[in-house]
Amino acid sequence: MTTSTSQWETVIGLEIHTQLATKSKIFSGASTAYGAEPNTQACAVDLGLPGVLPVLNKEAVRMAVIFGMAIEAQIAPYSVFARKNYFYPDLPKGYQISQFELPIVGNGHLDIEVDGATKRIGITRAHLEEDAGKSLHENFHGLTGIDLNRAGTPLLEIVSEPDMRSAKEAVAYMRKLHELVRYLGICDGNMQEGSFRCDANVSVRPKGQKEFGTRAEIKNINSFKFVEKAINHEVERQIELLESGGKVVQETRLYDSVKDETRSMRSKEEANDYRYFPDPDLLPVFIDEDFKTEIKAALPELPDAKKQRFKDSYGLDEESATILTSSRPLADYFEAVVKASASEAKLCANWITGELSAALNKAGLDITESPVSHERLAGLLARISDETISGKIAKQVFEELWQGSSTADDIIAAKGLKQITDTGAIEAIIDKIIADNPGQVEQYRSGKDKVFGFFVGQVMKEMQGKASPGEVNKMLKDKLK
Ligand code: ADP
Ligand code: MG
Repeated sequence: MTTSTSQWETVIGLEIHTQLATKSKIFSGASTAYGAEPNTQACAVDLGLPGVLPVLNKEAVRMAVIFGMAIEAQIAPYSVFARKNYFYPDLPKGYQISQFELPIVGNGHLDIEVDGATKRIGITRAHLEEDAGKSLHENFHGLTGIDLNRAGTPLLEIVSEPDMRSAKEAVAYMRKLHELVRYLGICDGNMQEGSFRCDANVSVRPKGQKEFGTRAEIKNINSFKFVEKAINHEVERQIELLESGGKVVQETRLYDSVKDETRSMRSKEEANDYRYFPDPDLLPVFIDEDFKTEIKAALPELPDAKKQRFKDSYGLDEESATILTSSRPLADYFEAVVKASASEAKLCANWITGELSAALNKAGLDITESPVSHERLAGLLARISDETISGKIAKQVFEELWQGSSTADDIIAAKGLKQITDTGAIEAIIDKIIADNPGQVEQYRSGKDKVFGFFVGQVMKEMQGKASPGEVNKMLKDKLK
C-alpha cells in the first residue's frame, strides 16, 4: 500500500449468515441434511406451491434466542416475519421470508482481542430468515441447474455495527462469532458447505473525520483468509480512487479469490426495491419469560468465561487458555486429561497444545478424532509426573500411543523405558566414562565448565536416556570435583 494510507481510516461492518443446526427447515418438515441428491429435500412448502402454508420451526426460534442471550442482547418479546420480494431462479416463491422492522434479536455485543487489547464490537441485530436454493453452473452446457434442497434452510443473519477499523479486526470478530455459534451448538460452522458466510461492508474516511465514507458491500465471502484479502483489497481500491479525485459509489461487489480483486455487481441505483411487508401467512412470534428462563438455565459456559476460568483455576497463561478454549471439545478434552492424570494442569496444557496438536494437524484430524484418547494421554502424563519416565522418553511413548492402542504403562514395561533410579548403576557408568576420558576430566578440572555437558551427554547416551537428568548432574558434579 502507498504511504498515504496512514491518512485514511477504514470502517467495516459485517453481515454474517449462520445456518442454524435444526433437523428440519424453518417453515417445513423437509430435512436440512447437506449433500443429498439435488431436489430430493424440497417439499411443497419449500417450492412455494399454491395452497401451502408455512409453519414456524420452534427449534430455530430457540436457537436465535440462545444466540441473543450469549451476546447479551435484547430478545424481542414480539417479532414479525416479512416478505422480501425479488426475482431470482433459485427463489421459487418470488420472495424470501425474513424479518425486517421487528427482528427477534436486537442490540448486543461481542468482545474481540486484537494485538493484546480487547475491543467491544456492537451487534445491531440478528434476524431469522429462510435460505434460497442454489444455482449450479457446472456440468450444464449453456444452461443453469437449480437445486432447491437448501431452500427453506433456517438462517440467522447477524448484523454488526460499523465498529471495526481494520481487516484484522474484522477477521477477529468473524472468528470469535464462528467459535461462539459452535459453542452454543446452533451452527456447525462448516464454511465450505456455506453454513457460515459473510458480507463485508467497507468504507474509508480521512482520519479525524466524523462522518462515515460511502461504503461498498462485498458479498458472500466464505473463508477467513478471503475476508481479510477482500477487505484489504477493497480499502486499497477506495483510497486510490479517492486520492485520484474520484468518488466511491455505493454498490455491491463480488470478491474473486482467483484474481484477488473485487468486481462491481450492482450499484445502489440498480439495487432491488424489496417491497417488504409482514407475511400474512405467519403469526407474530411472542416470546414469554418462561421460554427465556428455560433457555438461560440450559446455556453452556461461554468461551470468554471458560478462558478466564482456565486462567484462574488452572494457572494457564493467556496463549494456552486461548487455544484450549477455542472449541468446546478441545476444552473438554483438556479438563478430562487433568482430572484423569492427576498431573499439573500446565503439563497437560503443554502436551495438548504441543505434541498432540502437532500430530493432529499433521494428520488433518480434529480433537474429536484423536487416536489418543484422553485416558491414554492422561496415563502417559501421570508417568511423567511421578518421574517414571523423562519428558524425552515420554515423546517416544507418545509416538507409540499414536500408532497403537496400548496404554503408556504397557509400552513403558514392554520396551523397558522406565527411568533407572538405581544410583549404583548410574555410578558405575559415570566411573567408566570418567576413566575413559582423562583429557576431558583434566580440562574440566582446570576450569573449562563447558566440558560438563559432554559428560552428561555421554552418560545419558550410555543409559539410553533412561536416567533422571537431575540425578546424573548431581552425581557427576560430585565425582568430577
Ligand atoms: P443495508 O440495509 O443496506 O444492508 P445497513 O444500514 O443495515 O444497510 O448496514 C449493513 C451493514 O453495513 C452493517 O453491518 C453496518 O454496520 C454496515 N455499514 C453501514 N454503514 C457503513 C459504512 N459507511 N462503512 C462501513 N460499513 C457500514
Ligand atoms: Mg445488507
